[in-house]
Amino acid sequence: MTSVSLGIPAVNSATEPDPARPDHPGLLDRYGRVATDLRVSLTDRCNLRCTYCMPPEGLDWMPADQALTDDEVVRLVRIAVEQLGVRQVRFTGGEPLLRRGLERIVRDITSLQPRPKVSLTSNGIGLSRRAEALADAGLDRVNISLDTLDPERFKRISLRNRLSDVLEGLSAAATTDLHPVKVNSVLLRDVNDDEAIPLLRYCLERGYELRFIEQMPLDAQHGWDRSNMITAAEIMHRLSGEYRLETDTEERGSAPAERFLVDGGPAAVGIIGSVTRPFCGDCDRTRLTADGQLRSCLFSQGETDVRGPMRAGAPDDEIADLWRNAMWRKAAGHGIDDPGFIQPSRPMSAIGG
Ligand code: SAM
Ligand code: SF4
Repeated sequence: MTSVSLGIPAVNSATEPDPARPDHPGLLDRYGRVATDLRVSLTDRCNLRCTYCMPPEGLDWMPADQALTDDEVVRLVRIAVEQLGVRQVRFTGGEPLLRRGLERIVRDITSLQPRPKVSLTSNGIGLSRRAEALADAGLDRVNISLDTLDPERFKRISLRNRLSDVLEGLSAAATTDLHPVKVNSVLLRDVNDDEAIPLLRYCLERGYELRFIEQMPLDAQHGWDRSNMITAAEIMHRLSGEYRLETDTEERGSAPAERFLVDGGPAAVGIIGSVTRPFCGDCDRTRLTADGQLRSCLFSQGETDVRGPMRAGAPDDEIADLWRNAMWRKAAGHGIDDPGFIQPSRPMSAIGG
């Protein structure tokens, strides 16, 4: 990560005076971090209902006129790449494959200079039909979410009977060369927490890189319970029963996953301990929601509207300044452990995971 030393202690205090922002072209914050990785949510809708993410009935979807058009998404990403130093763009949601214009958006973004790396976080449903067109459009890689290998459990977790579609999507990503194919898994106590080893074995056999993510308090139902969460330490313990794990000595940088070589490598497994091993001090993310709001963090309480100014005719420079100022105010950390922690009002699916 590029960072700038500002000599400011890394504490998050509302009483601290807000220092003046130095003249810096990038997305610098008060703690010296510079965001270069942009997460763009393309929709808040989804064809699954993972219990840790969405309620069974879904949510009140965002009205169509509030959602950014394809051209608006491309314009905002262009500003981020050309003026603000963004070098990686990841499309997410909700389910980004539900966005019809995805191939066109990817093509336009991978034509920008300097060309950013472009990736997708998806549940994989429908990817088998679109992987080739997406790769042709310039998509570099995918992360596919897979929490279980058992069809009945898949239905219990996601409330839909779609495991075979997800597995087809995964294998299409691998044959289309969207490498490295990464798999995201959330383990839930007494639901799929006995699958850490089978999931790792499945991924090792196919050359996918598995990453376990600690469950975070970002579900719409507010059902997260820290005492019931499967922690990074617990996942390590379970995996160590079957595999020899060694910390990958390659520099982790701003990557959220702690990477471990499996049985001497080169295959590896990642553990994203967002709650128990936070990596906020190295965070290089900035976020854009499907309705054109900037967020400096998944857990931000505030958002900065860029859709309104853009539709009112704001030039690129003005939008770039709005973005710089939004990121300058980024908090030092997510604050999940603070006594006054308040879960953000938008759930993960509406922010973009
Ligand atoms: N629908 C796509 C998918 O499932 O990959 C993209 C959006 S989803 C919100 C992105 C990632 O966030 C998925 O890997 C999902 O497992 C993860 N996720 C959702 N809710 C979560 C939560 N409460 N805690 C941790 N991870 C969560
Ligand atoms: Fe949909 Fe992804 Fe949330 Fe599951 S985790 S409900 S696939 S947005």
